Amino acid sequence: MASDEADVLIIGAGLSGLIAARTVLAAGFTPLILEADTRVGGRILTEDLAGLPMELGAQWIGDTHHRMFALAAELGVETYQQYDEGETSYELAGTGVLRGNDFHDRFGDELAELETVLRRLDELSAEVSPATPWTAPHAAEWDAITAGAWYDAQGLSPVARTLLEICTVGILAVPTVEVSFLHLLFTIQTCGVTAELFAESEGGAQTTRFVGGTAEIPQRLAALVTDHLVFDAPVQLIEHGTDSVTVHCRGGRTARGRRVIVALSPMLAGRIMYDPPLSGYRDQLTQRMPNSAAMKAFFVYDEPFWRTEGLNGQLISDIGPARMSNDTCVPGDGHGVILLFLEGEQARTHTHWSEAERREALTTELVRHFGDRAAKPLHYIDGEWGNRQWTRGCYNANCGPLVWTTYGPALAEPIGLIHWASTDTATQWSAYMEGAVESGERAAAEVIAALT
Ligand SMILES: Cc1cc2nc3c(=O)[nH]c(=O)nc-3n(C[C@H](O)[C@H](O)[C@H](O)COP(=O)(O)OP(=O)(O)OC[C@H]3O[C@@H](n4cnc5c(N)ncnc54)[C@H](O)[C@@H]3O)c2cc1C
Repeated sequence: MASDEADVLIIGAGLSGLIAARTVLAAGFTPLILEADTRVGGRILTEDLAGLPMELGAQWIGDTHHRMFALAAELGVETYQQYDEGETSYELAGTGVLRGNDFHDRFGDELAELETVLRRLDELSAEVSPATPWTAPHAAEWDAITAGAWYDAQGLSPVARTLLEICTVGILAVPTVEVSFLHLLFTIQTCGVTAELFAESEGGAQTTRFVGGTAEIPQRLAALVTDHLVFDAPVQLIEHGTDSVTVHCRGGRTARGRRVIVALSPMLAGRIMYDPPLSGYRDQLTQRMPNSAAMKAFFVYDEPFWRTEGLNGQLISDIGPARMSNDTCVPGDGHGVILLFLEGEQARTHTHWSEAERREALTTELVRHFGDRAAKPLHYIDGEWGNRQWTRGCYNANCGPLVWTTYGPALAEPIGLIHWASTDTATQWSAYMEGAVESGERAAAEVIAALT
């Protein structure tokens, strides 16, 4: 049975909270996770659709997500490679629909321009420390402009500029006019180089998936700490003193501990009340790190018909509604599955549409790229995150101009007995599951050191 007394209280049973709990337990201390929802996993959510796992939340890991590979191996979750054979379908800046080879032949110069800008981004991001981005030599200059303004100043052709915008929104899920240029460089640096961030093939962030679905990871982790996990316990107030913390949940449940780890995105952490109140400095930070906006929509067909036509199931479009897509078939199953991404403005707009309207508009787009067979899916499902009370948007927290340089030190620094986790506080692969694991391990290490 869950106890209302523990050494370490952990708010949130997302990946970072579960990792923190497991680490604390392994060190000989008692954790207690208080989770608002009725399930574990947070931004990891696998739903069954006609027997197939649909990843409404996190889906892939990449070659340098070493913590996630180790975790999957430890938990006995097998992985498989993302399908990546054939050509991508493009429609950009008025080109009409073009298959990959034709697009590359026609726009070789534009792609070379883009490559030059990506190399420049790699050079600049190398100056940014992912633990302290505000200390970069040009931090003040870079944090005062948006990524969009910097992109606009590079003199790119419409095709190259459009492609760069789509790729960036595909990662940050907000328009680049809302992103601090320093935050973009931080993001690149936490992931390595732009090639790792943007590529889908070898070396990219989306090379590998989990057999049975990503939710296998949090579910198997939860099984290891099941006696220390309480559901339906939204934390509303944290009272913190010099030697204990008391957490109050909606419904009247309370729990007392020696330390607390808040494993929530900064924005949700800011919605909890603290007594005594946290400094204005910390609160101003959490007011300025809103979650971005993304939706995923899945079409299931009787077979992956695009593969036989030499297509890889990926589209890149500035007409939309989706800017990008992926082949997300499950090995060993004959169905064809296409995933479409609605990110940034596309997600914000289409969340107001009915599911039937979204499905129709996306079907029209798929037919443009993959032909008439795309008009006859067997099943459809899409997943919205802004309406989910315990997430309120994804993929992660965004920083607009001047946030890092003004408030950056408040992001992960413990305050008294309160420690901060969540992928948004990570220094490697921040925003990804890899970052969630890193942040859970880091917060647990802080607590263990303090209690030992
Ligand atoms: C659509 C989508 C696609 C993604 N794709 C990928 C991908 O392909 N690869 C990848 O690596 N990452 C991906 N991500 C990101 C990845 O899911 C996250 O980085 C990671 O899961 C975050 O874990 P976390 O523990 O930091 O936060 P969360 O998962 O947000 O966990 C926070 C937990 O706290 C709970 N909670 C909230 N408020 C309270 C409260 N007041 N009291 C108690 N509990 C509370 C929530 O219910 C939740 O369980 C994706 C995310 C989304 C949504």
